[in-house]
Amino acid sequence: MNKVITLHNRPEGKPSLDDFKINIEEVPSADDGEVLLKTRYVSVDPYLRGRMNDSESYVPPFELNKPLQSGIIAEVTDSNNTLFKIGDLVLGNLDWKEYQVSNGKGLRKIPGERAYVTAYLGVLGMTGLTAYLGLTKIGLPKPGKTLVVSGAAGAVGSIAGQVGKLLGCRVVGLTGSDEKAQILKSKFHFDEAINYKTTDDLSRAVKAACPDGVDIYFDNVGGKISDDVLSNINKHARIPLCGAISLYNSSDAVLGPYIQPTLIKKSALIQGFIVGDFADEFTAATEKLTQWLMEGKLTYHETIYEGFEHIPKAFLGLFEGSNEGKMIVKI
Ligand code: NDP
Repeated sequence: MNKVITLHNRPEGKPSLDDFKINIEEVPSADDGEVLLKTRYVSVDPYLRGRMNDSESYVPPFELNKPLQSGIIAEVTDSNNTLFKIGDLVLGNLDWKEYQVSNGKGLRKIPGERAYVTAYLGVLGMTGLTAYLGLTKIGLPKPGKTLVVSGAAGAVGSIAGQVGKLLGCRVVGLTGSDEKAQILKSKFHFDEAINYKTTDDLSRAVKAACPDGVDIYFDNVGGKISDDVLSNINKHARIPLCGAISLYNSSDAVLGPYIQPTLIKKSALIQGFIVGDFADEFTAATEKLTQWLMEGKLTYHETIYEGFEHIPKAFLGLFEGSNEGKMIVKI
């Protein structure tokens, strides 16, 4: 029997478990040129929330009553494709199914000897590349600059902050619990960390943590938190706009301080980006991240849920701050 998770409803506001459905199907078999894949590790990511809306974006919306998809590491359990053999581990944007067939297109073999496999869903995968390329290509970190990272204890943020440190910045992280704030300093080497949930005046707390002002703001969350950081930016500040998770579940138009006067006064640059914008740089960036990882200069954390049926719960946890580092489901 093959479990499959489909989108049952388009969520209104914050998603709930009722928006997903587990169906049972037959295990498929691999035809000529195909491989049979058994799902091993599933990445859940905030951007999947946008794909649950019936609206145009940079990736098409999920269809109702069809399987959801995300980055998945799977094992080849049968192969009629000469490029893959039984036992190979592959990475692809695959369906939330325990078993599925593929013609091999879009699958990448995982070089198991270089790092533990789940690293290819995080630090050596989409989120690590997002952190490294967003920061280095847009933020232009330099020694002595002050970098603030929001969503700092998550998959992207924890790497962005460490890359900033490796490139000589003073790094301040914003996160949603005292425990995570502690981890930012003790494990990820941030200079300062602020719990945005318990701080009465976040703008003032950022000011205190950044006595020389904010030169680079790597923004993962948007909304009010970002307004409070932007009130502290320096002249010529650079703002890689990576994500806006605080707004992903808002169905109403969100009003807030208008940032244009601040950007003008500070001659600041804000640039939204999708990691795919930098596809030409993926190989070189992966090499750099691998090198730092193997030299012990970069570390990563994972929050691992177990069990195929817990994929939706892990996804919902992203909006509750349940993860530290990359959220992954082990099957
Ligand atoms: P994370 O691992 O950071 O997980 C999400 C975290 O966001 C939670 O743990 C929580 O941490 C925080 N969060 C949740 N809700 C809120 C809220 N309402 N306000 C503030 N913080 C909140 O996810 P990723 O690292 O995978 O992604 C981080 C951001 O980067 C997302 O916005 C994502 O969409 C974006 N992204 C963009 C890409 C691109 O190409 N531009 C590619 C990949 C990701 P806490 O406990 O600290 O609140």
